[in-house]
Amino acid sequence: MKALLPRIEISLSQIQHNAQILSERYGQKGISLMGVSKATLGDPLIAQAMIQGGVKFIADSRLENIQKMKQAGVSARFVLLRTALSQAESVVQDVNISLNTEFQTVKALCYYANLSQKVHQIIVMVELGDLREGILPCDMLQFVKKTLELSSVKVIGIGCNLACYGGIKPDMQKMRELSELAEAIEKEFQINLEIVSGGNSANYEWYESAQTVGRINNLRLGESILLGRETVNQQAIPGLCTSAFELTAEVIESKEKPSLPFGEICRDAFGNVPTFLDRGIHQRIIIALGRQDVLVSGLKPNDDLEILGSSSDHVVLDSRHRNLKIGSEVKFSLDYGGLLSAMTSPFVSKQFISCA
Ligand SMILES: *Cc1c(COP(=O)(O)O)cnc(C)c1O
Repeated sequence: MKALLPRIEISLSQIQHNAQILSERYGQKGISLMGVSKATLGDPLIAQAMIQGGVKFIADSRLENIQKMKQAGVSARFVLLRTALSQAESVVQDVNISLNTEFQTVKALCYYANLSQKVHQIIVMVELGDLREGILPCDMLQFVKKTLELSSVKVIGIGCNLACYGGIKPDMQKMRELSELAEAIEKEFQINLEIVSGGNSANYEWYESAQTVGRINNLRLGESILLGRETVNQQAIPGLCTSAFELTAEVIESKEKPSLPFGEICRDAFGNVPTFLDRGIHQRIIIALGRQDVLVSGLKPNDDLEILGSSSDHVVLDSRHRNLKIGSEVKFSLDYGGLLSAMTSPFVSKQFISCA
């Protein structure tokens, strides 16, 4: 069979390797991992690779993704990262644990759990300054108190999320704050919190420099497992594979052309007045891939090529004097935005490759 283009090639063995190294490394200080599958649309094979690598939980922001993985037979504790009131009934049916910040939603989860004689597990998220989801620290005790009065939900932990919206770093001080909050809750209500979830792929630097991790015993990792990177400094994590995902597209035009457009300048397809660098006559290629398929700024050409620009269905590249044949293939590595967009495009086929 001829491979489809454009396609994203996915190495399950590299994903498993990353999950394993990270599970071992974080495990050394007692931290368990949730493998976050949302950037892959909850792909069951990728989730399976994470589980084989040692993650104990699979976490996703979309209920539909979790349902897909369960239907495909993936077996793990499933965690919903984003809980909507309107989905409470399905959340109770399909998810083991959900992250929550609103009491009205927790009450609805309790209602549906009670109806089906279940106990739904929740992690209460605290706001530590990034200003995405979370209950303000001063309101946490009251929230937990009210939740403990509900019979069909169980508070199994607390967590926080940083470095997502506000760009706030998960540093020693933030992690200490979360630890102290966990201890305060445990002391006040005489309960044991099974999970204290300190964050995401941005927590690597904190972990590596921490003498002690306090009460933090869990992280939720997407990018680190999938792309082998931490997200505070955008650095590759030593020992991990950074090219488990590669995007391949087909060359459809290859010509020597001027580097400056000629004629009267107006606007491009996206309403901008573009500017260009004069490189003289040079060798250019066009590939059959565009902004409709992928976030072009999230692509990095693997060969010695340079992206000059893009429109909905074309990416134009400087091929650096090489005359690439039409019909030939060019490869790109992806950042998180590139991965997310390529995985969600119906035009990009997914191909699992077995070589390392
Ligand atoms: C997406 C998400 C994660 C994973 O983030 P990465 O940077 O990919 O590790 C963790 N926690 C929550 C709440 C998320 O929404």
